[in-house]
Amino acid sequence: MDPILERYQALEDKIKAYNPTLDTKRLFDAFTYADNAHSSQLRKDGSPYITHPLAVAEIVADLELDTDSIIASMLHDTIEDTGATHEEIAKLFGHTVADLVEGVTKLTRVQYTSKEEEQMENLRKMLMAMAKDIRVILIKICDRLHNMRTMEYQSPRKQKEKALETMEIYAPIAHRLGMQKIKWELEDTSLKYLDPIGYQEIADELSARSSAHEEFLAAIQKKITDRLDEEGIKCTVYGRVKHIYSIYRKMYAQNKTLDEIFDLYAFRVIVDDIPECYNVLGCIHDLFKPVLGRFKDYIGTPKPNMYQSLHTTVIGREGIPFEVQIRTWEMHHTAEYGIAAHWKYKQGMANAQLGTEENFEWVRKLLENQQDADAEEFVRTLKVDMFADEVFVFTPRGDVINLPAASTPIDFAYNIHSAVGNHMTGAKVNGRMVPFETTLKNGDIVEVITSKSAHGPSRDWMNICKSNEARNKIRQWFKKERREENIATGRASFESELKRQSLTMAQITAEDALPSILKKVRMNSLDELYAAIGYGGMTAAKAVVRVKDELLRLGRVKEEKAAAERALQSEVVFPATSLPVDKSPRKSESGIVVEGLDNCLVKFAKCCTPVPGDPVVGFITRGFGVSVHRCDCPNAAPEKRRPEEAGRWVNVAWVGSEQSSYQTSLEISAKDRDGLAMDVTMALSTVKVKVDSFAAKAMPDGYASVSIVLQVRDRDELTNVINKLGQISGVYQVKRAAG
Ligand code: MN
Repeated sequence: MDPILERYQALEDKIKAYNPTLDTKRLFDAFTYADNAHSSQLRKDGSPYITHPLAVAEIVADLELDTDSIIASMLHDTIEDTGATHEEIAKLFGHTVADLVEGVTKLTRVQYTSKEEEQMENLRKMLMAMAKDIRVILIKICDRLHNMRTMEYQSPRKQKEKALETMEIYAPIAHRLGMQKIKWELEDTSLKYLDPIGYQEIADELSARSSAHEEFLAAIQKKITDRLDEEGIKCTVYGRVKHIYSIYRKMYAQNKTLDEIFDLYAFRVIVDDIPECYNVLGCIHDLFKPVLGRFKDYIGTPKPNMYQSLHTTVIGREGIPFEVQIRTWEMHHTAEYGIAAHWKYKQGMANAQLGTEENFEWVRKLLENQQDADAEEFVRTLKVDMFADEVFVFTPRGDVINLPAASTPIDFAYNIHSAVGNHMTGAKVNGRMVPFETTLKNGDIVEVITSKSAHGPSRDWMNICKSNEARNKIRQWFKKERREENIATGRASFESELKRQSLTMAQITAEDALPSILKKVRMNSLDELYAAIGYGGMTAAKAVVRVKDELLRLGRVKEEKAAAERALQSEVVFPATSLPVDKSPRKSESGIVVEGLDNCLVKFAKCCTPVPGDPVVGFITRGFGVSVHRCDCPNAAPEKRRPEEAGRWVNVAWVGSEQSSYQTSLEISAKDRDGLAMDVTMALSTVKVKVDSFAAKAMPDGYASVSIVLQVRDRDELTNVINKLGQISGVYQVKRAAG
């Protein structure tokens, strides 16, 4: 019989052993299809190419995976290496198989280069995310295992490349998935090419001592088995020398020789149930001396990758330490095959169900069992659904960039560097020009085309990009690079928003409003406000709402002030005729103009001595011109005005005048004391006013009254004088003379 057909038959038998209902025709069809597709190809060792898919299918069958996985592994290189298409495979073997094959193909196409640890972690995540169906990863790992087994026929360069990739990517993934056995083989075969001398040294030394090792292993194994038999515990005991890479790592990390490696040997005791595990532990610790601090209960606290066992290290009579792992058969299966154990063909379960509900059930269980952060991290890196919020893409140099899901070339560019984003003129995904809004997919190779003369990002980009990082960087650019433009666009939208709110620019730029408005919008200038609106740091609507609030507040304050003033003035009666308004201020000798009377004689009433700034009213005297009173002068009070003279009261107003000072009088009330008059004259001299008369007189009740006639420029100067006099010790009132 043809050796290849024979091999096929052996595979079929192997599968039937765990899956008696295997559809052998379907399997054979897949084998024939692959054989034909690869018929013109040879493996590097000269054997027909079909031997590779067959071998991969064998490894997948060792994991006891479902039929779709086996068929997909048989076909795994057809899309990549032959004319086969997803469509054709789907038609012949179903969509699941076609998707699995396509998934493996995608992973095969991923280019790796050696990178920093963080990059490697992203690469591993990306592979998991790309796999979508975890069976894709399982098949890919089996594919890699067979390639590593047959690596000796490849060129030294390819050997190193693949070995590194295996060590850095696939072995850690196998570890995460709990597939210890495959992980060990991947590590050992990789080491063989990465450090041939180191590998050979250990391998040689181990084989030189293999008879000694065998002897030791057999003796301990017998001792354990005998004791457990005595106890009536049904068990299987294995002994082994640890795998080469784990010895290598210990020698390297601890700088030790092979002889100094603490635990070179490992024994496994496999029993039927968990209580037996603890019974066995008791027996082992009774039989050998346990090493303190080396006992670990991974049954009570499983490892994140589902691994469960009791671990202990003991020392035998020979003084040689060794590790004992105690577990049930179920735990053993999980330890060997990891997640694959959960993908195992299960009788009576439709294949379609595998990898769907089963999958989620598994993840759910894992989450329930293991609340620690490590477990969570494991699951997060494990399943595609857990990656829903991330996408992993490559730079043309092969670096992995991790972006939020649904990211675009814009996000990619800004992730690389702001300068790359700001100068981007185009983008290529997998070598083809694409629009900026293209959604990136896992494994895409993204290339940004930049130009020095690029005029910067467009405002639309902020709506297209997905990452806050990109959005912030674009905003930064507009803020910095386009200040002039921002001010112009910001001003335009601010003004149109003002108009909408029926406000005017004049209201805002008013001297008494602007500073508090700027304070309210937290800007130093209007330009700064416009720029902020321009680059999107603040919306025009928001700015105008704040401005409006402030204007309303200012309005209220003004009103309150006016009301307070009115209240004050209503104490002294305010004549209705006091409208000191002159639309065209003229000059006059006296500083007063009279409504309706030009060039009339003006004199200031002696009773109230008004000065410029005082509200005033005029009385037309008989023959002495117009007498000007303060509005609050009792003699001008409306109730004192005789009705027949009503027509004599006229509006007057202050205007600029040649006259530089006006005479007025003050009355000071104070507690009488020595030196009071002196203090008053001192105060008057410091404010530099001209005093026309000064009269102080003592009152019988211990008080004193000082009457002063003085010259002031206007009401402001007078107020200043009054304040100054008010500060003199003992003075309790300074008032203007009236009436
Ligand atoms: Mn392959």
